[in-house]
Amino acid sequence: MSKVRVRFAPSPTGPLHLGGVRTALYDYLFAKNQGGDFVLRIEDTDTARYVEGAEEYIMEALEWCGIIPDESPKHGGKFAPYRQSERRGIYDKYLAGILKTDYAYLAFDTTEELDEIRKEFEQNGDVFAYNYITRNRLKNSLTLSEEEVKNLLDQKVPYVVRFKMPVDRILNLEDIIRGKTSVNTNTLDDKVLVKNDGMPTYHFANIIDDHEMEITHVIRGEEWLPSLGLHYLLYEAMGWERPEFAHLSLILKPEGKGKLSKRDGDKFGFPVFPLNFKDPETGNISKGYRDEGYLPDAFINMVALLGWSPANDREILTLEEMVKEFDLHKVHKAGARFNKEKAEWFNHEYLKSKSDAEVLALLKEVDGINLTNSGDEKLLKVISLMKERATFAKDIYSEGKFFFEAPVSYDEKAVKKAWNAETAAVMNQFADTLHSVDVFEPSELKQAIHDFAENKGLGMGKVMMPLRLTLVGELKGPDVPDILQILGKEESIIRIKNAVNNIH
Ligand code: GLU
Repeated sequence: MSKVRVRFAPSPTGPLHLGGVRTALYDYLFAKNQGGDFVLRIEDTDTARYVEGAEEYIMEALEWCGIIPDESPKHGGKFAPYRQSERRGIYDKYLAGILKTDYAYLAFDTTEELDEIRKEFEQNGDVFAYNYITRNRLKNSLTLSEEEVKNLLDQKVPYVVRFKMPVDRILNLEDIIRGKTSVNTNTLDDKVLVKNDGMPTYHFANIIDDHEMEITHVIRGEEWLPSLGLHYLLYEAMGWERPEFAHLSLILKPEGKGKLSKRDGDKFGFPVFPLNFKDPETGNISKGYRDEGYLPDAFINMVALLGWSPANDREILTLEEMVKEFDLHKVHKAGARFNKEKAEWFNHEYLKSKSDAEVLALLKEVDGINLTNSGDEKLLKVISLMKERATFAKDIYSEGKFFFEAPVSYDEKAVKKAWNAETAAVMNQFADTLHSVDVFEPSELKQAIHDFAENKGLGMGKVMMPLRLTLVGELKGPDVPDILQILGKEESIIRIKNAVNNIH
């Protein structure tokens, strides 16, 4: 059998949606599982929909995810160029070929003429399609004489090339995920293969490139399923062996109905793109997972499980483990519902499993926080204490800000709950006790608090709660002895005194 070759073929019409990332990931996983090649091809023949920066975005996103192509516009390869706009000569050659067959014809109808007919159909309650019936009354090389066609061509009248859909044939289609389906060719229209500017459309360029690049498996989104019949026939027309096909179901909205959209992301507060994307026209920024603080390995793990179940319901898998396990037959036929909490859970799990030093490196990269005043030793202690409860590295700072900055105010509700007329005196006495704690370690500190409370005839809470308030400014955070230890004796005593002077 020939070497497995799978391509991801995005059009640079905007940032890569979560669904696109998943397609690329499954393409990659399948290719690597089979010991094959993963190819990135940029399908940019539709110049009207081209978006500046989208191609760079796609490449950067794949790189961030660790989905590295063996061949691409950037990596080069045996079948270069990998950008369709640079392959025009190849398409022209095959166009000449298909025009010699009975599978294609020239159509000279103008947009205005087609609009006119469309209206006519609408008035009769019908929908117009350029198909095996209507083509017989339209302006094309099937209805015009050879002479007329030649004249139009000599006059340089613009034309498109259309596929001549065979009549009355049942096509038996096969999809690795969905199994067998069939379609009657009479329900399909005569798609444009080459536009009047000479550029091929998606359908034509796509099958030519898949053939030329020796692609063995086409794994793509289900929105291309309706084109499968046409693609089968294009392979037939060209006399080529076709690749195998697998169409992936949609990623659904959190509530389960309909395709996950950017609007859902905005509404529920999660990104639908891997990286931030700035729209070159509006300047609007769409949020990305990377910029929200997701780890790339957590992100792709989450994406992989949107529609695929590894054996034994395993959930945490590295890219290498996914490659080993991936099986297209285990990809779900039904759409996968996106779940924000689950996405966060993945990040939490990956963050937790990183070493404190790794998390420190991540924390230092977080925008908008300044850690220059804290030594690494203290930061590592904070990380080890806070990592377990953080979803993102940035949470360690936001949830543990009090480690770096003394409280400047005290939460009102907390004061009501934890402070009364006697508390200031109790805290002052406790500050004295702290002075004499020699070994400033959590177990010793816990004991000291305990002994102090017992001496004073107070419950533990009566000491612990106000103490926490003096150190944190509110009643949250990890265990008080842990906080005391990280802050150190001097800083802890300063904070207690400050609170005593400022809480009334
Ligand atoms: N250019 C198409 C897209 O952007 C590729 C579809 C395919 O994989 O055949 O979705």
